[in-house]
Amino acid sequence: MKTVYSQPNSQEFWQEQLDKVVAQCEARDIEVNVGSRKENMLLIYEDRYVIWLNSRVKPETRLYLLLHELGHVFILRDKKLITKFSRVNSKAKSLSLKILEIEEEVLAWHMGEQFARKNDIYLGPGFLLCKAKCLKTYISSV
Ligand SMILES: [Zn+2]
Repeated sequence: MKTVYSQPNSQEFWQEQLDKVVAQCEARDIEVNVGSRKENMLLIYEDRYVIWLNSRVKPETRLYLLLHELGHVFILRDKKLITKFSRVNSKAKSLSLKILEIEEEVLAWHMGEQFARKNDIYLGPGFLLCKAKCLKTYISSV
């Protein structure tokens, strides 16, 4: 059977890419929800991870944000990395902790990108832009 692909860059195309990543998340016991809350977030329960994505964001951007949150899960599932970044969650943040937080954010983007490349998920030029915008908010808060 011949596979028919949607027009690149159409809404359906991005939705397909997004669905592929959601399926991969579910296979890894990561729940993905789409809702009206503004912030995209990763919630950690004792036995599972839940990623929330904003429904008002277009599918292409939602795909990139999902990959980023997935990158965070990969960090959390890596013993060495979780030890390294565990201090980031403390309330009072020194400059070095703020920088460590940025390092974790950059790494989550990197891991999400690696995952996409390994799994044939298409990343458009919007990926870099989305990554840059998100990282900028962290950098400006230092
Ligand atoms: Zn993040």
